[in-house]
Amino acid sequence: MLGLRKKCLVTGGAGFIGSQLARRLLAQGCEVTVLDNLFTGSKANIYDLLPNPAFTFLVHDVTQPFWGQFDEIYNLACPASPVHYQHNPVETTKTSLLGIMNALDLALKTKAKVFHTSTSEVYGDPDVHPQPETYWGHVNTIGIRSCYDEGKRAAEAICADYRRQYGVDVRMIRIFNTYGPYMHPRDGRVVSNFAMQALQGKDITIYGDGKQSRSFQYVDDLLDAIELYMAKPRAEVERFFDGKGLGCPVLNVGNPGEFTMLELAQLTLKCLPESKSKLVFQPLPQDDPKRRRPDISLAKEFLGWSPKVPLAEGLPKTIEYFKRFV
Ligand code: NAD
Ligand code: UDP
Repeated sequence: MLGLRKKCLVTGGAGFIGSQLARRLLAQGCEVTVLDNLFTGSKANIYDLLPNPAFTFLVHDVTQPFWGQFDEIYNLACPASPVHYQHNPVETTKTSLLGIMNALDLALKTKAKVFHTSTSEVYGDPDVHPQPETYWGHVNTIGIRSCYDEGKRAAEAICADYRRQYGVDVRMIRIFNTYGPYMHPRDGRVVSNFAMQALQGKDITIYGDGKQSRSFQYVDDLLDAIELYMAKPRAEVERFFDGKGLGCPVLNVGNPGEFTMLELAQLTLKCLPESKSKLVFQPLPQDDPKRRRPDISLAKEFLGWSPKVPLAEGLPKTIEYFKRFV
């Protein structure tokens, strides 16, 4: 019985998005193997999955080759919060590039389908707004964010080349700021910082003047898009993307609702009216993008997908999740 199930590998599957993806794939009846070195992920995110006979957890660093026979490989391993990816930037670039190369090599040998998580960071501090997939970006190659931005750009390039040169079936999504339950409470990203600060009555740390914007996507919307994308037959994927002249299947997936960090702080406090937190202003980190909003026309056209959960709905659910850490 088990042998007939689709076999999926999720690298980074003990992290925020990866653990939710693993949960969803299991619910679809897949056999799931999670491979993670627990750098930013946590076993607590997958405790409930461990007794499931269709679930396997392996502690492994994706910079080292890995092996197994899978139908689908989902590559998510990479620290995603600026605090964490800047902690050991050399390791971040290696994780991003060697991780996807190892995944692609395995896919090449075993004919697996590959899903790769790229990021809106490939657009850098964009001078085109909103950002379509055809925009090549505005990235500092030698700044403190470059380990992540350029690591992810190199990963996209190698995906495109494994597809062109070796015919690997690879599909990429450029994820825009995604939040929700299973984010690490001390992850360092803005949604978790503001929520934890407001819950603990600590100062809410606004970097810069707080007028920079981001577009926040609830994690369930991202998972819906991944599911629809991976279910598409290869011929349909090829036809659609070849027609768009993009060189490789890549889709922006995010929620176009755009908010400044000041607006996010106010929304967070509105969810917790009893909070005693005050806003404090701290220096803006180097190369912090000023504006970000996805153009999701392609995802709408190809997947028939658009996000369903506005920030006003997803934020309270996420804050509710964080209450267990206070
Ligand atoms: P996360 O930090 O919660 O998850 C990343 C996981 O990768 C963690 O479990 C971590 O332990 C693991 N990992 C890191 N280095 C590894 C290595 N060398 N070997 C094995 N495992 C390793 O972050 P997330 O938000 O769940 O992000 C998942 C993926 O999605 C990342 O690739 C990230 O770049 C991408 N992404 C996320 C967002 C977002 O807003 N959440 C936006 C754009 C892209
Ligand atoms: N930010 C902030 N306070 C915080 C954490 C982040 O004002 O405590 C800002 C940060 O400077 C950036 C935005 O929030 O402008 C989003 O930051 P995050 O680290 O979540 O993601 P990214 O910059 O990678 O989009």
